[in-house]
Amino acid sequence: MGKIKNRIISLAAACLFAVGLLPSAVSADDEPILFVNGKDIIAAENNTVQCGTGKAVYDAATHTLTLDNAQITEHTKDGDMPTTGRGAIYAMYTPLNIVLVGDNSIDIDGDNYQYAYGIYVWEQNLTISSENKGSLTIASNNRTIEAQGKVTIDNVSLDLTAAKADCDGMGGESFEIKSSDIKLRSDGWGIYSENDFNVSDSKFDIQSPLNNIMVDEGKLTASNTKFYVKNTLGGCAIYAGKDITIENGSYVEAESEPDCAIFTPGNIKLDNSELHLKGWYPGIMSSGDMEIKDSKVESKSTNDIGIWSRSNLTIIGNSEVKSNGIGAVGEFAIEPVDGSYAEVSADGNKSLAKTRIIMDEVKDDFCYVIHKHTLSWVIDKEPTVNEEGIKHEECSTCDYKGEAVPIDKLTPDTPSDDKPSDDKPSDDKPSDDKPSDDIPPATGNNPGTVIWIAAIAVCGAAVTITSACRYKKENR
Ligand SMILES: [Zn+2]
Repeated sequence: MGKIKNRIISLAAACLFAVGLLPSAVSADDEPILFVNGKDIIAAENNTVQCGTGKAVYDAATHTLTLDNAQITEHTKDGDMPTTGRGAIYAMYTPLNIVLVGDNSIDIDGDNYQYAYGIYVWEQNLTISSENKGSLTIASNNRTIEAQGKVTIDNVSLDLTAAKADCDGMGGESFEIKSSDIKLRSDGWGIYSENDFNVSDSKFDIQSPLNNIMVDEGKLTASNTKFYVKNTLGGCAIYAGKDITIENGSYVEAESEPDCAIFTPGNIKLDNSELHLKGWYPGIMSSGDMEIKDSKVESKSTNDIGIWSRSNLTIIGNSEVKSNGIGAVGEFAIEPVDGSYAEVSADGNKSLAKTRIIMDEVKDDFCYVIHKHTLSWVIDKEPTVNEEGIKHEECSTCDYKGEAVPIDKLTPDTPSDDKPSDDKPSDDKPSDDKPSDDIPPATGNNPGTVIWIAAIAVCGAAVTITSACRYKKENR
């Protein structure tokens, strides 16, 4: 459902894109062109352009443009470039490595010309990096950053606003984003990536009417990354044409008012991450398989069910999943981590599962959490001096009942003079100092009592594990 909508938007944007950027001539030996703040920096003295109180310096040998506290307010004019597009930083026939020093800004939002980009790199790769997490704020009236090659962003802080109507925030052929903070506001898509979108150790704060992150033909892979994304008008908050993998401590808050928060025609894998999702359609949906492993997922649909796979759906391991409905066209299975129970609530019924179980579609509230027994000992038979006692453990929240275990015979009262009672007279300390009643009701005052209680507790733990396995077999 989202795919068709995405496709229409994709075509519309592609047309818009082509109109603005048709080169008048292309040949292999075209000389590099680079304009910064409205000036040809390759022709400029010392390859330096003053930018407000800061400056931009270009090293042609390494294609490196250093922005040193630059304040950029001008963009290319007609005739500067063999294209009709304009940009505050505009490169053709060369890749561009932008290095940020300090705090930098590009502000060309006041210009009504439709095609003025913040940074534009024509058919080449763009890198934006910094030694010390430099920053760049861009306000523009076309995409804030656009490269028709790969975009690499490393260790920077970006605050991007593309405020004019139907304008996307940022675009590239593919993206590699590391250790960066990106805040983005736009009137179209947030980020458009034609192919793969790989992010790690980063943070995204994106609000836009259309897809916040639109990975058209590639995969989206996020490791240890935070997403705070929301869209309001069309498409999904996070979309990838191939697979979506969110892993390694990532955190996602995603909401789509008109569609899915997360959707891909491919597979979805969530591993060791936390997601809070809300959509009109399922908060998270895949046409391929969906796997939720060791992750916390809360998903809500305002008009459908919270989690849906058009293929197989598996919840694995130490996960926590809450959703207003869940299901799969293929097999929907839960698979608790070895040795633990999953507590599953589905359509008002509650049950425990210890091994892989095939589930039915759940139309109402669904909850999967790893069940933690609340255990306490129940004495079946008190021990005496002559006979062992019997006890077992019970869980107060489920019907788990441990195996019966013996309680050692009571030791015959030995003469108490081996620990003379006047040894440590308790009355020379306040009586409220460690009241003896936090020791379980003991059957004797012998100091040995505490030791055998501890010993039984250890035995009991082992018994719990073995009997837990047995419990499952009986209940399948
Ligand atoms: Zn229990």
